[in-house]
Amino acid sequence: MPVWREEKLDCDVLVIGGGGAGLRAAITAKACDTDVLLVSKVKVGSTSNTYISKAVIASTGWGPPDDNARTHMADTVKGGRFLNDQSLVARVTERSHAEVQFLKECGVHFGMQAKKLRVIQTPGHRYARHVYGENWRGSDLVIPLKHRAKQAGVPFAKQVYVTRLFADDNRVRGATGITSDGRFYTLHAKVVVLATGGYAQNWPAISPVQYYR
Ligand SMILES: Cc1cc2nc3c(=O)[nH]c(=O)nc-3n(C[C@H](O)[C@H](O)[C@H](O)COP(=O)(O)OP(=O)(O)OC[C@H]3O[C@@H](n4cnc5c(N)ncnc54)[C@H](O)[C@@H]3O)c2cc1C
Repeated sequence: MPVWREEKLDCDVLVIGGGGAGLRAAITAKACDTDVLLVSKVKVGSTSNTYISKAVIASTGWGPPDDNARTHMADTVKGGRFLNDQSLVARVTERSHAEVQFLKECGVHFGMQAKKLRVIQTPGHRYARHVYGENWRGSDLVIPLKHRAKQAGVPFAKQVYVTRLFADDNRVRGATGITSDGRFYTLHAKVVVLATGGYAQNWPAISPVQYYR
């Protein structure tokens, strides 16, 4: 009797990670009519940083009319002590309004005031520009995103722990994974999206006291 089984899967876009980033990437890949597969080491959506976050999102266009993406970018670059990748900051700050609109269309309920999205001001931002999920919980965001991905027909390979990426010709071609019940996966893909979170570990932790000095 075999003690392990191996499954081979092929797809166009392999998304590794079932938090906000992975779900969003998978929805976009599916909308581009690609054969997408989302893999997560645990239950999609509810076992991610996105789920336990406070669901607060910096996004211009909902608060004071003087505020805009350029001001948001300047605050972000300054707050990041000019260490940020500025082209990435520009893209994020320009897209943030449309992304909040997209989340609304997915069924996310935001905190409201007088029939408008309520914005709050947080340290480092010149304007009140943060919107938030109505319960201040990441589940406000990730559960509707998961439903949208399911509706769009994104298949989930749940509880597959990705162990290694493999490459050929200097290009990532896929990944290997394992499940807790002893199945081994070889996942071949034209494109691999790494959305496994944890990127905050790229920077040393500093206490708020140091930060505001
Ligand atoms: C307590 C807390 C509060 C926060 N509040 C806010 C906030 O209010 N606003 C804000 O903007 N940010 C907040 N953040 C930060 C924010 O939550 C994260 O930056 C964001 O959720 C990261 O999303 P992600 O999809 O990249 O990663 P995650 O949501 O962490 O998803 C990672 C996914 O990858 C999967 N995965 C990881 N390794 C593997 C592997 N080897 N194989 C297969 N799958 C794997 C995980 O299971 C998970 O599904 C908060 C964070 C915390 C911890």
